[in-house]
Amino acid sequence: MVRAIGRAISFFLLRLASCTRLKAVKRAALVSEAADLAKLYRVSKRDHFRLKDYDPDDTRGMKDKKEAKNLLEHSRNLLSEFQEKLYAQDRWALLIIFQAMDAAGKDGAVKHVMSGINPQGCDVTSFKAPSKEELDHEYLWRAHKAIPQRGKIGIFNRSYYEEVLVVRVHQDLLNAQQLPKELVTRDIWKERYEDINNFEKYLGRNGVIVMKFFLHLSKREQKKRFLERLEMPEKNWKFSMADVKERAYWKDYQNAYEEMIQNTATKHAPWYVVPADNKWFTRLAVAGAIIHKLHSLDLQFPEVDDDKKKELAQVRKALLAGKE
Ligand code: ATP
Ligand code: MG
Repeated sequence: MVRAIGRAISFFLLRLASCTRLKAVKRAALVSEAADLAKLYRVSKRDHFRLKDYDPDDTRGMKDKKEAKNLLEHSRNLLSEFQEKLYAQDRWALLIIFQAMDAAGKDGAVKHVMSGINPQGCDVTSFKAPSKEELDHEYLWRAHKAIPQRGKIGIFNRSYYEEVLVVRVHQDLLNAQQLPKELVTRDIWKERYEDINNFEKYLGRNGVIVMKFFLHLSKREQKKRFLERLEMPEKNWKFSMADVKERAYWKDYQNAYEEMIQNTATKHAPWYVVPADNKWFTRLAVAGAIIHKLHSLDLQFPEVDDDKKKELAQVRKALLAGKE
């Protein structure tokens, strides 16, 4: 009898060990896959970047959506684990910025990043056309207020980068900013890149990690998605005339994006130019980059010191000794 129980226990322990080993192997594979994805789409050097070198339809040869779904599920679990440690450690903050043309899938990417995460540890801010009050401040004011605090993940759905995108494409928006005339020169965009780079450097030096995603959509795929919004009743609400108007400025936007990335991709705050023609792959690439970054931080739960351990042991003893 005793021997039978012993055998059962060792069988159980063996299975447990192999299970944990399998988990560790899966985790290592996921982390390495994430590193590959991050490397492929990360732009941290300014000079040679050209948007045309990045294919919006790229899926790294992966065709199997089922396989991607599986990977996404695992990546969600891993993200959730990292976020818990980030929160508990209360040292780093993570700022994730999404920029893209309309219908590129920003909302879906935000939803995906958020889905496995404790809502208490994450804030999403959507930046729309500035209000009167916001226009009365310098343009980083509203963004600075929304920078995540230590331990938290902050997601920007659009951001201060609109100041070198939509404001550049439509110069009347710049006029509406009530800047003193002598400050609006032909150098204004270069100056804005410089200010943004300095701002991000400042954030980095204070423990805010900045990751910037450009969801790279083709004009053809945007047309397809707009048509879906027009033709499918459940997608009608997503259609906006303004989006179609902006499509007419496609080339200007692509130039503005290219120049913006050339000027603001840095080592401490890289851009990730993620293919966006296949939503499932976009989400995978975004998750991969974030996992790679968080993994590199080697996050740990805070250690409890000896005095605290003693105190915990005493409280435990007292609780166990209680009758009720
Ligand atoms: P969706 O994918 O649902 O269309 P969205 O991010 O496009 O989401 P909208 O409400 O359609 O949200 O658009 C917000 C608009 O606000 C965008 O056209 C964007 O260019 C504009 N915007 C954001 N920041 C600024 C800014 N600083 N100055 C002027 N316009 C801005
Ligand atoms: Mg829109």
